[in-house]
Amino acid sequence: MAMVTWLKLRWARFFTLAGWSWKLSNRPGFDFEVSFRCYHSECPDGHTLLVRVCNKPRYALQEKYQAFEYPYEEPNPALFGDGPSNTYWEMVHGHGGGEGRVESCWTRQDADWLWERAAYD
Ligand SMILES: [Zn+2]
Repeated sequence: MAMVTWLKLRWARFFTLAGWSWKLSNRPGFDFEVSFRCYHSECPDGHTLLVRVCNKPRYALQEKYQAFEYPYEEPNPALFGDGPSNTYWEMVHGHGGGEGRVESCWTRQDADWLWERAAYD
């Protein structure tokens, strides 16, 4: 299986394990649309991202992200690579916003542990 195909499958499993709602995106250039609840009182609707799976490390994803014209419009575009630490997006969150990555505060259990599990389920 091609690496990117495998990564997409693994992310789909991860979203389910994390308790995120997700579906395949019908927007060109994106693989998934995902929504998750936010712990912050100023984010009662949670967050929705348009995910493009791209097998690159986080610094490269951040660089690539600069091509998006309106990153702060919801649903926010997001780039997901190999695992939670290799993810990047920007969004309004809490009192401000900024750079996001998949973190355990948004997942049902520890994000890195879920990522490991998503490889085998
Ligand atoms: Zn938030």
